[in-house]
Amino acid sequence: MPIYEFQCKKCKKEFSQLFLNWKEADHVTCVFCKSRDVKRLMSSFSVHQTEESRLAEFDTSKPRGEDFYKDSRNIGLWAKKRLRELGVDLGPKLDEIVERGRTGKILEDYNK
Ligand SMILES: [Zn+2]
Repeated sequence: MPIYEFQCKKCKKEFSQLFLNWKEADHVTCVFCKSRDVKRLMSSFSVHQTEESRLAEFDTSKPRGEDFYKDSRNIGLWAKKRLRELGVDLGPKLDEIVERGRTGKILEDYNK
């Protein structure tokens, strides 16, 4: 279950909200003043994380929610980590494939 951080644009207070599914995140009201004028805060945790630290923390044995893959930087992470664990080094070629997956290009190629 994702927990998002919000800031109310009206009263400037910050609060976090737990969602059963990500669609609910479109209907958030400020818990203090009930204003609907809120913005979602990017968690500093995910913004400042480098790919190396993402890979280090990534646990391939745990299931990922759909929210995880909404962050395009997380696409390909599983494959990279898994290959690394297996001792397979595909070098720049893997980065290229992952990059194409992240930008959506890989799907265009498949549809040709
Ligand atoms: Zn408010």
